[in-house]
Amino acid sequence: MTIESVKMKRRKRIALIAHDNRKTDILDWARYNRGTLGQHELFATGTTGGLLARELGLPVTRFLSGPLGGDQQVGAALAEGRIDFVIFFWDPLEPQPHDVDVKALLRIAVVYNTPIACNRATADFILSSHLMAEEYERIVPDFARTIGAR
Ligand code: PGA
Repeated sequence: MTIESVKMKRRKRIALIAHDNRKTDILDWARYNRGTLGQHELFATGTTGGLLARELGLPVTRFLSGPLGGDQQVGAALAEGRIDFVIFFWDPLEPQPHDVDVKALLRIAVVYNTPIACNRATADFILSSHLMAEEYERIVPDFARTIGAR
């Protein structure tokens, strides 16, 4: 399989998503990390993004709400190299109407070797990594070249 790399700049493009039962958690985490988050470019699904923008007073580019296609938009942005990593506080205790979209997003993040934090501890480790302030060459399989699509 052919390999290529995608450059993540010092200013990371971060997508944030939280299911309803995890919104308090993500707001609390984001408030604590506001200083670091403010150095990067923030994206979020609709409702999460509205809450974060209000809580942090920072610009947040909003996708659609998760159940209405927002998770799929984040997945597409990630596949197209428009998102560097994802903070995704999904709810492990409640079924969601868009469970298939959740699974698809988790899958596509693995396909493109994209960091994805699904709980606070992982989010803390990612945000406190020295790589947050550096450029990083993320290795991704070049699927298109491998299957001869170009
Ligand atoms: P929301 O979507 O931010 O619009 O609530 C999150 C989700 O349910 O995936």
